[in-house]
Amino acid sequence: MASIIDSLTRSIFNKAILTYRHQIAPATWHIRIQSDALVGHTFTAGEHLRLFVGLDRDTAMNSKLRTYSIWAFDAASGTADLAICAHSNGIGSIWIKEVAVGDAIHYMGPKGKLVIDTAGKSHLLIGDPSALSHLYAIRSHLSTAQEAAGIFYSPDEADHYADLDGSRPFQFLRVGGVPTEPLIAAAEQLKSSLRPALTIYIGGDMRVCKELGRYFRQNWPHAEVRAKGFWMPGKVGMD
Ligand SMILES: Cc1cc2nc3c(=O)[nH]c(=O)nc-3n(C[C@H](O)[C@H](O)[C@H](O)COP(=O)(O)OP(=O)(O)OC[C@H]3O[C@@H](n4cnc5c(N)ncnc54)[C@H](O)[C@@H]3O)c2cc1C
Repeated sequence: MASIIDSLTRSIFNKAILTYRHQIAPATWHIRIQSDALVGHTFTAGEHLRLFVGLDRDTAMNSKLRTYSIWAFDAASGTADLAICAHSNGIGSIWIKEVAVGDAIHYMGPKGKLVIDTAGKSHLLIGDPSALSHLYAIRSHLSTAQEAAGIFYSPDEADHYADLDGSRPFQFLRVGGVPTEPLIAAAEQLKSSLRPALTIYIGGDMRVCKELGRYFRQNWPHAEVRAKGFWMPGKVGMD
């Protein structure tokens, strides 16, 4: 039976319908949702939605919401594409394995802080599987005059799903854990090709975001660094 919190959530927050769901990697699903409340929204690449994935489950309020980046957005139809990973056993991972086309999804947003820098002339994007669609969204919204390079890392190359146009524009590093040194080495190799003004985006594992953010701020003072932890070992959700 739905709790009072679940009933209130359904009456207060906007509702979307899941219109598409397809597995694109061993632990990643591409979904599309449609909501009339999204029609006409002016999308900024890097925005996310907060989905109520824990409704009808016996969970605390902070375990009902999970945040997912918008991979693609269509304001005319009010549709948003998302890529949701299930590398953990949390409520979001359970939800994405069970949700079906036609299901209702309540949500908050869109909003976001790790958003595209439209003024930057070159862009370096770094992240793990949880951030890949976010980085693809930023890259695909850059103008033809803006240059981009990306580094995607994972212990498993199967996590490296393609962008919506079928391309895999980022360099792949097969590394796990907190691979600060190999990521810095890969970024240093790209440095000479990245002209000012440079913006660096880092998303995914909070530990990597912090360590790389510190490194770039100290050693690449000409660059603007935008970092956002998406998950952290031992922490449930990031809301
Ligand atoms: C701004 C923002 C954007 C995000 N965008 C996306 C997105 O587009 N796609 C996406 O899949 N996720 C995204 N996330 C992360 C997402 O919100 C969830 O935190 C994540 O999916 C884990 O949720 P969960 O309920 O499965 O696990 P939780 O209950 O949150 O965590 C359970 C355990 O698993 C660990 N864990 C969580 N994620 C991972 C991981 N990726 N690898 C290894 N261990 C992990 C946790 O640290 C915790 O110990 C985003 C987060 C933020 C803040």
